[in-house]
Amino acid sequence: MKILLSNDDGYNAPGLCAVRKALQQFATVVTVAPEINRSGASNSLTLDQPLRLHDRGGQVYSVNGTPTDCVHLALTGLLDYEPDIVVSGINAGANMGDDVLYSGTVAAAMEGRFLGLPAIAVSSCSFGLEHVQSAVRAIELLFTRMTDFPDKTDTILNVNVPNLPWQAIKGFQTTRLGRRHKAEPVVNATDPRGHPIYWVGPPGEEQDAGEGTDFYAIHQGYISVTPIHTDLTRYQALTETSDWLSKINE
Ligand code: MN
Repeated sequence: MKILLSNDDGYNAPGLCAVRKALQQFATVVTVAPEINRSGASNSLTLDQPLRLHDRGGQVYSVNGTPTDCVHLALTGLLDYEPDIVVSGINAGANMGDDVLYSGTVAAAMEGRFLGLPAIAVSSCSFGLEHVQSAVRAIELLFTRMTDFPDKTDTILNVNVPNLPWQAIKGFQTTRLGRRHKAEPVVNATDPRGHPIYWVGPPGEEQDAGEGTDFYAIHQGYISVTPIHTDLTRYQALTETSDWLSKINE
């Protein structure tokens, strides 16, 4: 198996280094990841400047771009073969509910969604990565059965691992994405020249976090695995929208 590894925290982030070692048991691993921390980059591509690649040795490359740039570049020109799977992470911090809209970790995985095996985004639910080895163990277990995964059509598995020692984790649970309340307000400040500046504030509190959601699984001590895809069509609204448009067409 050939694995393409990326992330959004940067090519030398501790979470990525920890999982790279583990994945090398299963396959050839090539890493293409951002030069610096690009958390929150979502699915953005850099179109206004060239991308530059640095060979960091040991099959590790850094790119002066976003997580999506990295995987896109790897799959469309850098590698002379097609990897079997993209793994993104291990991110420092959870990516649950609405977080996936902003997440560069999920975006990097998403860019590798059509490879045949499900792309995997892995996050540890702590910015400090105290229990990163639990997330490493989770990925190792997933990889022991990866080629059995039934749905080969553009699936991304969004995996969140509780910030707990491995012995305290209860197992894997299939979940749906929960939802957060509206984000906290921006943080206002003033720059040294007296101009107003703003820091994007923290994400909102959990709103839809009941049984079945990723938030709930994590609170109960389970590893949350949410299968996601990129089709944003709101199928429930197709008929209503069509009825509404037909009146405009009259
Ligand atoms: Mn990140």
